[in-house]
Amino acid sequence: MKNYFVPAFLLLTTASFAQRVNQDSLVNESKKTEVWQPVPKPVTPGATASEAPSDAIVLFNGTNLDSWVKESDNKAPGWKLDGDGAMTVVKGSGNLKTKQAFGNCQLHIEWREPSAIAGSSQSRGNSGIFFMGKYELQVLDSYNNPTYVNGQAGSIYKQHIPLVNASRKPGEWQSYDVIFTAPSFDAAGKVLSPARITVLHNGVLVQNNVAIKGSTQWIGQPSYEKHGDKEPIVLQDHGKDGGNPMSYRNIWVRELN
Ligand code: MG
Repeated sequence: MKNYFVPAFLLLTTASFAQRVNQDSLVNESKKTEVWQPVPKPVTPGATASEAPSDAIVLFNGTNLDSWVKESDNKAPGWKLDGDGAMTVVKGSGNLKTKQAFGNCQLHIEWREPSAIAGSSQSRGNSGIFFMGKYELQVLDSYNNPTYVNGQAGSIYKQHIPLVNASRKPGEWQSYDVIFTAPSFDAAGKVLSPARITVLHNGVLVQNNVAIKGSTQWIGQPSYEKHGDKEPIVLQDHGKDGGNPMSYRNIWVRELN
């Protein structure tokens, strides 16, 4: 039997060459699933979760109500500026509506219940955020305030119970961070896709991409009626009964397309 002498350096070179070929082919393979376009637009985030990112539309920063009108007659809103960055509902002065219309969007909004507790159930700090003027994310003092659960804070009023009750005490600022997807309709008004909503209440998930069943109804079942791709956002003056001098601050929205 012959002895073949293979120099050690040749063995090593051959091995490392094979390894490199193998490594190169893995890299080539990995490149097939890399996507380089389109490049996401840079956005400067706010310094805190309250602060608007650079591409947001600021709807309220405490200084004026210029982005809003009274819903019923498009006149100047009757709510009052508190001078500390907040605005407060003036009972009976009517709902507020954004001048600009929005469809798919990300909304940040902060709200505070009056520290002096008045009323109970739905009559304690009731307000609401109506996406497209129709679909209500309930605002209520739900800290030790039993009510029907599909009407408590974080509910999609009379449609979806919040996953948990993340309410803070009255007098403390609370936040909603919302991802809202507008419904779509065909030419005849048939719903092609329902509105959807995801809500974080004080950073806690309370609605997870739920399908909205139609316009919010106090009485009866919700249903859809065809409307524009974009509609104003409305803030509710629940007025009339109970203690509802709610305050809002730091409201900003990002349009999602
Ligand atoms: Mg309400």
